[in-house]
Amino acid sequence: MEQFPLTAKKSPADRTLVNIGALTVGEGFTVIAGPCAVESREQIMSAARAVRAAGAQMLRGGAFKTRTSPYTFQGLGEEGLRLLRDAGDAVGLPTVTEVTDAGKVALTAAYADVLQIGARNMQNTALLQEAGRAGKPVILKRGFYATVEEWLLAAEYVMAAGCGDLILCERGIRTFDRDTRNTLDLGAVAAVKMLTHLPVIVDPSHATGRADLVCPMALSAVMAGADGLMIEVHPTPDAALSDEEQQLSPESFARLMGDIEKTVEFKRSLDG
Ligand code: PEP
Ligand code: MN
Repeated sequence: MEQFPLTAKKSPADRTLVNIGALTVGEGFTVIAGPCAVESREQIMSAARAVRAAGAQMLRGGAFKTRTSPYTFQGLGEEGLRLLRDAGDAVGLPTVTEVTDAGKVALTAAYADVLQIGARNMQNTALLQEAGRAGKPVILKRGFYATVEEWLLAAEYVMAAGCGDLILCERGIRTFDRDTRNTLDLGAVAAVKMLTHLPVIVDPSHATGRADLVCPMALSAVMAGADGLMIEVHPTPDAALSDEEQQLSPESFARLMGDIEKTVEFKRSLDG
């Protein structure tokens, strides 16, 4: 049996467009932005207004956080889901948030437009299947120890459960280097774009762990052929309750959006 019956590209022109309300991922270039975690109504509203003003097309924010340490901020839970929904509605942006276990899929799907499966859960098959059955688009992040083959097989789980609206997200893999949080694998992005019809986006925030590296890696992701980006933006990064070193200020994000636009145009001129 063919190993990738649902995710493999069948012809060079075979590509899936994922519709999320008025937004189509896989057509043009999509930027998803927002804080690592929803922290308060004021914080997520301020972030939502800022990313919307800068031109982002989807709002992100974690309500259930899969933190490496149990002694750090774990998210606001259902209250975080509600605040994210309210903020998305207030500025007119669809929302995406991480669903951390199979038992939380229905709850998360009741609030969010898109379900995100995080790197730490990429091979949680019960979660992959439950998310695939939820009737919502899914963003599947690559696990930090996962090969491209394992990532695409995880995608097969989600699609086999019934989800046709799947987006892959490269977020860096674990290597020996400690200067960057992870190693952004842009070679895999270019490779996966050839292997599958699914849209592929890049998260330069978790990939590098450093705000000063987000901009160069975001632009490089455009050149590697990514269909979009997911970027962490916080109204006051220094005061963030999680990932404070990698979140962009609204001002830096607005500047980056201008550079992304120019790079997308340049890439388009090369592709003809
Ligand atoms: C996130 O996007 O909030 C997140 C936790 O990312 P990852 O699963 O890639 O670590
Ligand atoms: Mn984060």
